[in-house]
Amino acid sequence: MTSDREADLASFAARSASSRGRQHSEDPPRTRTQFQRDRDRIVHSTAFRRLEYKTQVFVNHEGDLFRTRLTHSLEVAQIARSVARCLRVNEDLVEAISLAHDLGHTPFGHAGQEALNDCMLAYGGFEHNLQSLRVVDTLEERYGAFDGLNLCFETREGILKHCSPDNARRLGAVGERFLLRHQASIEAQIANLADEIAYCNHDIDDGIRSGLIESAQLEAVPLYERHTRRVRELMPSIAARRAVHETVRRIIDALVSDLIEESGRRIAAAAPVGIDDVRKAPALVAFSASIRAQADDLKSFLHKNLYRHPQVVRMTTKAGRIVRELFAAFLAEPRLLPLEHGARVEHEGPRAIADYVAGMTDRFAIREHHRLFAVGEL
Ligand code: MG
Repeated sequence: MTSDREADLASFAARSASSRGRQHSEDPPRTRTQFQRDRDRIVHSTAFRRLEYKTQVFVNHEGDLFRTRLTHSLEVAQIARSVARCLRVNEDLVEAISLAHDLGHTPFGHAGQEALNDCMLAYGGFEHNLQSLRVVDTLEERYGAFDGLNLCFETREGILKHCSPDNARRLGAVGERFLLRHQASIEAQIANLADEIAYCNHDIDDGIRSGLIESAQLEAVPLYERHTRRVRELMPSIAARRAVHETVRRIIDALVSDLIEESGRRIAAAAPVGIDDVRKAPALVAFSASIRAQADDLKSFLHKNLYRHPQVVRMTTKAGRIVRELFAAFLAEPRLLPLEHGARVEHEGPRAIADYVAGMTDRFAIREHHRLFAVGEL
């Protein structure tokens, strides 16, 4: 039943029937494909629900309309599925990878990740991408027979976007491609670029909404300028807020269309027959050279003007301090941790503290920091 559902896919797509399988053997699902099962397990996980209260750029309490990691992940999944359907590859797998790709993020976005990495330098470091894999492989506690979600190899491979050679050796099969310099499945490649399309565009929207950047400033970016000029030509009296939305949706459409066309060209040229040909070929999912350069321009604009905006830096500096102080307090006195986590520190050392801190939502981290450091609080 499940193989029928994947019968129309391209020969080089990932398929349940040819999956490299799960770490713990399980009966195949009766009504779903293997990758639908993975997606469902991810949606039911605790880490997935926490994404609602974790941020990308703005801290969770700064406004109700900004993206959170949850809405970001949904946008990534939606873009990735559109691309996958056009390229006739496995939509269920791209959806699973997209929904899981940020599960290992710390509170407070990149500021939190950098702070936790600093804290963990002497103990192997901290990397959110590796942590996403750790969440689905070991940290989720939902099944009687195993730790983690026991996802398929292809889903795990897609979650692990990058990896150092040392970690790759330690991770076994899922790390092999980094040593062999092979690609991941086409579905993983799609999820990766859908992530970039999603965040570049929603950060324009959130950046303007927050007042930290202005539409006029963005006109220095050719990709934005071209589409906003077109919007004004077509709708001269459009209100400013709507013009931003009209521009952003056109940019998303341009990036997605280019990605589908360029990937189609590359697939036709490489003519992969099976998923192993995809792994051995150069990257098959890509933007054209011109759109790649334009997307890079947009990313540098956002880095310079939004991610390093003084107001964002004030918040991220505070956020980094919260993470560092929480980690230091737990390391000095593991009995401050909930019992179960304290016990894990005895066996696993500082990694268990990193897992605990990384799992916190923005607001939980702020409250916990207040409880630990405010005199007169318990
Ligand atoms: Mg992301």
